Amino acid sequence: MANEDIFKKVVAHAKEYGFIFQSSEIYDGLSAVYDYGQNGVELKNNIKNYWWDSMVKMNEEIVGIDSAIFMHPTVWKASGHLSAFSDPLIDNKDSQKRYRADVLIEEHRAKIQAKIDKEVEKAKKRFGDAFNEHEFLYTNQRVLENQAKIDELNNRFINALDSDSLDELKQIIVDYEIVCPVSGSRNWTDVRQFNLMFETKLGSLNEGANQIYLRPETAQGIFVNYLNVQKTGRMKLPFGIAQIGKAFRNEIVARQFIFRMREFEQMEMQYFVKPGEEIKFYEQWKETRIKWHKALGLGDEKYRFHNHEKLAHYANAAADIEFDFPFGFKELEGIHSRTDFDLKAHQTESGKKIQYFDNETNESYVPYVIETSIGLDRMFLSILSASFNEETIEKEDGTKDQRVVLNIPPQLAPVKLAVLPLVKKDGLPEMAREIIANLKYNFNCQYDEKDSIGKRYRRHDAIGTPFCVTVDHQSIEDKTVTIRYRDTMQQDRVNIDDLEKIIDDFVNFKTLLKKI
Ligand code: ATP
Repeated sequence: MANEDIFKKVVAHAKEYGFIFQSSEIYDGLSAVYDYGQNGVELKNNIKNYWWDSMVKMNEEIVGIDSAIFMHPTVWKASGHLSAFSDPLIDNKDSQKRYRADVLIEEHRAKIQAKIDKEVEKAKKRFGDAFNEHEFLYTNQRVLENQAKIDELNNRFINALDSDSLDELKQIIVDYEIVCPVSGSRNWTDVRQFNLMFETKLGSLNEGANQIYLRPETAQGIFVNYLNVQKTGRMKLPFGIAQIGKAFRNEIVARQFIFRMREFEQMEMQYFVKPGEEIKFYEQWKETRIKWHKALGLGDEKYRFHNHEKLAHYANAAADIEFDFPFGFKELEGIHSRTDFDLKAHQTESGKKIQYFDNETNESYVPYVIETSIGLDRMFLSILSASFNEETIEKEDGTKDQRVVLNIPPQLAPVKLAVLPLVKKDGLPEMAREIIANLKYNFNCQYDEKDSIGKRYRRHDAIGTPFCVTVDHQSIEDKTVTIRYRDTMQQDRVNIDDLEKIIDDFVNFKTLLKKI
């Protein structure tokens, strides 16, 4: 099945099974804003817990905070967001559609790359085992021509970004004859900058309204609390501050479901280090974060690093962890060595000394910072899309059946076990409820007595419930039940008293955290 079709199915599935709804749907929705439903919120909370535990519980030198969304407006002056947090936008006059100029250019570059890839595929088929890809790439005329186009485009693109030249971005779009994907025309406006921060007013106008912003990242709440935490927690370098919270960006083009939203959640950790030690810790955090992802078992090949060639003005090293979404490899998390840019900028704007006194060397300095920043919603989408599977299964009578299953890592699954009485009588429902009454302190359980057992299994496969426990007549006699495993569909007869241990072994975060 084409990846596009899988993505459509994942989006439809997320709605049908109570994971994600369009915001304000009864009013036709609000663009790029989503609500999490009854299963979505559980999955989201479990991701948050996995991240929080891996940061705060597992590392004695990392503590958490929860800072406010509203902040003093000067924060955004200091951080550079007021002057530089903008995207270059361009409108197509015929379709009235708005685009990010840099994205239009990147997509054009990807199209040329796709032509090269196609040539390689064709040649692979033609030459079979004798095919030498390296030689082909350096000798094939069509590949060389296209590669030259990409190189030239890259050069101009990087120069335009480096020099902040909006005119050159427009010229690239004109010269490469990039067309609007909707109207197909080249009738473009000029490129202009668009600040992504949402503005609002604090207080009533009479009291003297104050222009403030919805935070576009959670990191600044950490920086402005650096001194508070360092002093009250008597923290010694290196130490980290972690935070999970909402961020807001007025994205020009918000597409691809919850991949790019206008209101989203970030999980960020700022690690403060002695100047000069930042690259060592940057490398360490890259390693730790990729392990955190891979521990989930969705497939190591689904992750890759993308090291930034063009660094932001405040960074001296940066990489993204990209995930293989149904629409291709895209950024899931950023790891940045941010130098002392933010703390220094806040020191200058606030006039307060924001430094660290080093007992060992008897000197004060502004610490350097390594940041790990991951979008919770993108993480959610990565799990949902990698877990979604349509399977053809063979039934006991030899006929074939279809099932849709979410192979969500059991630790993150919204519901851990469903308890199903075989029939709605003979004391079986009571016994099922008793099992839940004992296990609900440990796990999120669901009781389900409607429809045939087969249908109930399918319903729970579709929301990723790792275990279904069936109570039958034998259960009354000998206090045993059958436990069915979601992924293998294998069924075992076990003692009711053993359920807690069996399930805990699968869903406890410990197994994941030990791999990091
Ligand atoms: P992109 O290049 O995709 O716009 P970014 O580089 O601006 O992302 P950062 O500012 O580094 O992103 O933010 C850190 C993380 O926050 C990203 O890796 C991503 O997971 C998440 N994120 C950023 N913007 C959005 C958004 N609009 N919707 C959902 N998640 C987002």
